[in-house]
This record gives sequence, structure tokens and C-alpha cells, in this order.
Amino acid sequence: MKKVRTRFAPSPTGYLHIGGLRTALYGYLYSKMNNGDFILRIEDTDTARYVDGSVQIIYDTMRDSGIMYDEGPDVGGNYGPYVQSERKSIYTEYAEKLVELGGAYYCFCTPERIETLKDDAGNMRYDKHCLKLSKEEIKAKIAAGEPYVIRQNVPAEGVGSYDDLVYGEISVDYKDIEDGILIKSDGMPTYNFANVIDDHLMGITHVIRGIEYLSSTPKYNLMYDAYGWERPVYIHLPPIMKDAQHKLSKRNGDASYEDFIKKGYTKEAIVNYIALLGWSPKGNVEKMSLNELVQNFSLEGIGKSPAIFDETKMKWLNGEYIKEMTAEEFKVKAYEFLKMSKAYGKYDEDKLLALAKGRVQIFSEIAEKVDFLEEFDKYDLSLFENQKQKSSAALAKEILPKIKEVLLSLPEWSNSALFTALVELSAKLEIKKQALLWITRIAITGKESTAGGATEVADILGKEETLRRIDYSINLL
Ligand code: GLU
Repeated sequence: MKKVRTRFAPSPTGYLHIGGLRTALYGYLYSKMNNGDFILRIEDTDTARYVDGSVQIIYDTMRDSGIMYDEGPDVGGNYGPYVQSERKSIYTEYAEKLVELGGAYYCFCTPERIETLKDDAGNMRYDKHCLKLSKEEIKAKIAAGEPYVIRQNVPAEGVGSYDDLVYGEISVDYKDIEDGILIKSDGMPTYNFANVIDDHLMGITHVIRGIEYLSSTPKYNLMYDAYGWERPVYIHLPPIMKDAQHKLSKRNGDASYEDFIKKGYTKEAIVNYIALLGWSPKGNVEKMSLNELVQNFSLEGIGKSPAIFDETKMKWLNGEYIKEMTAEEFKVKAYEFLKMSKAYGKYDEDKLLALAKGRVQIFSEIAEKVDFLEEFDKYDLSLFENQKQKSSAALAKEILPKIKEVLLSLPEWSNSALFTALVELSAKLEIKKQALLWITRIAITGKESTAGGATEVADILGKEETLRRIDYSINLL
């Protein structure tokens, strides 16, 4: 059996969005599960859409996410160059060959003539005008330096069919396909031509790409057939939607890998989540590392219907990854985000991180979880009124001085020492411990809800600040 070779062929038109990364991931998974090769090819022939710096973003994103290629512009390989703009002479050679084979022809029509072919809506179907030119006429025009393009010669009738591994049999009437441009007047190929030549010359066995190419594929097959080349296996992927009506698109600024990293997602969770956008694993395990994805991936699991990008679910998954991290691992990733909080620099970092861990799903939530520590100010005394906790403002007024006394004489300041002391006090005063803890927490935070209970917060605040706040609350009462 032939070695499986898949490719990711992005156009450098901006950042790498989630849809692109999903295509890359599926190509990677399918090659790796078959011990095959995964190739990165940069499709930069559309100079008008080229965005500076985006090739680097593609390299960085793929490396960072672990969707790493075996061959590509910056790693080399035996099938290069892997950048289309460096392959111009290859396309010229193959375009000329296709002309000889009857699959394409030179077209010298002027923009003015093309204009006359447009209908009221501005759509144009080329009328094969130049197909009639004789070899001599063509030679003469080229020699005279007349500008030309090379167009595909699509049969006027018949049907092009192929079997897509996700969408099944796809058939398109040739009369609905236009004689599209393969080589532009500047000598650059269009995507429609370059993808065929490159996939063949690079030995690609399985073409995995977005659904937008599903119905163009018959015209690519015409070229494979004309050259007498074996067609690759096609796997088109369902679209990714923002909601029922809107596609997730980079035009709307939706969802780039980088943005999610900046928002505080882990790369593992992003990769895991995008694997599930259009693919359903067998069984109901959804949390999988990249290696586990390689083990479990299957083409049969790819669905036809649009996948909905659900950030709530991605957050949940990220939270699962965070839960499994050790305090150390969490610190490495969370530190940059902790720095953005008001509490940073004021309290023990490790304690702040411990307070946040287990309570955040993404790292950018850290600030909002710990900032309450720095927001102590006049608060509403009704916060002490809580029937469920058996607490009231009157009770607070009565016992806060006693709490203060106990804390003042506490020899060791730690979460557990504080807890033991307060529980003992509640027994002594014969009041419910949850009432005492509630009163303490309100007195030192002035907030109805906080991450962490009374003793965890007091431990972080430290003795002096805790007692200062208790004094403040005694005065307020
Ligand atoms: N350059 C095309 C794109 O970015 C690639 C399509 C393909 O994979 O064939 O959409």
C-alpha cells in the first residue's frame, strides 16, 4: 500500500483561524494514524490577498499547537519547494503540457472583450472564443508579445463524478463549470491549477480540506484525468458555524488560535476542542490529548452537518485541563494572567494561584476571581443577614470582637490554624460554625460571594490586614 501523505495548504492571508487549524489537525491525525507524512504547503499565488507576517503565524501556530508537519518550507523535504510562488516554472511547464493534451488553451481576449461577455448581474462565462485559434495563430500572438492567460478546457457536456469520503458521490454537470483561468497573465497559477499540480507532484494521497471545494473538485479531476494521473482520495470537511445562520469566518474576526491563547485557553484544550468540530469520537470520551486523538481518529466519525463552535463547551473542556494540572503547571501558564489582577504583588502569589485554580475555566478569569481581595470598602450590612447560614447583623455585632480576640492571639497564621481556631470558638460560643465563618468572611471581604472561604481569604490577607478589616467592620456595625 502507498504511504499516506496528507497536506495542509493555507493561503497566507492573515492569522490562522480555527477552521484552518481544524483542517490542519484532521490532515495531521489522518497521516499519523496511518504512519504517514503530513506536509505544509504555502499557497501564496494570490498576491492581492497576501498579508505580511502571516506565513510566520502559520509556522508558529502549528509548532505551538503540536500539529507539526514532516515537510514544509521551513523544515525541507524531498518534494519542495513548498511555497507556491517558488514553483512558477513548474506550473508553466505543466500548463503547456495540459495545452498539448487538450485540457487547456491559450486565451488572448482583452479585458474589453471579457467585459462584453458579462450579464446584467456582472457574471461572466467565457465563450471558448480562443479555443478556435490555430497553433500558428497562437505562436504568432505569443511572439508578438500579446498578453494571454491559459484557461481550462472544460467539456461542454457530460457529468463529472467522484466519491467523497464524507459527502458520498458528488456529481457536477460540466455545462455548469466555466473555462476558468489556470495561468494568469502575470504567469502566476490560480489555486485551481496549482493545487492539482502540487498535490500530484508532492505525492498527496488524501486531500483533506473545507467543504467550499466540494463542487470544484470535478474540474480538478478533469486535469488529473487529462495527465493520466491517479486522483487523490477526497475528504471534504463540514463547515464550522458560529450559530445556525452564520459561518465562523476570519473575515468577521472570529476565533484565531492566537486569540484563544491570549484569552487564556491551553493549547491542549484548543486542539482537543477543534478535533470535535465535525468529528465524533466513538464512546463518550471527549477529553483527549493529541496522541489519543491520533489513536482514536477515524474518517467514519466525520459528519456531514455543520459543526457549531460552542465556546461554552470549549471553556468547560479547558477547565477540565486546568483541574488536572499540578500547582506548578498551573503557575507556569497562569502567571501572566495573575499579573493582570489588582491583587498581584500585594499577596503571596502561590496562595493567589491556589485560590484561583479549580475556580477558573480559562486563565483570563483569574483576575476577576482574586480582585475582590483588593476591593474592600464600605459595604451593605444586610450581607450579614443570612437565614441559611444562621447569621444576622446583630449576631455579627456581638461576636466580631470575640473573633478579633481569637485571631489576635493566634500563634500561627495559616488556613488550617485559622479554621481550627474559629471552629473552636463557635463551639465555645455555642453558635453554628457556618454562621461564624459567614460573619468572618463578610467582615473581611464585604462581598456576598468570593472565591475561597473565610479562613482561606484571611490566610491570604495576612494577620494585620485581616484585623484591620475586622476593626473596620466592627465600627461599621
Ligand atoms: N489554499 C486553500 C485555502 O486556504 C487550500 C485549499 C486546499 O486545501 O486545497 O483554502
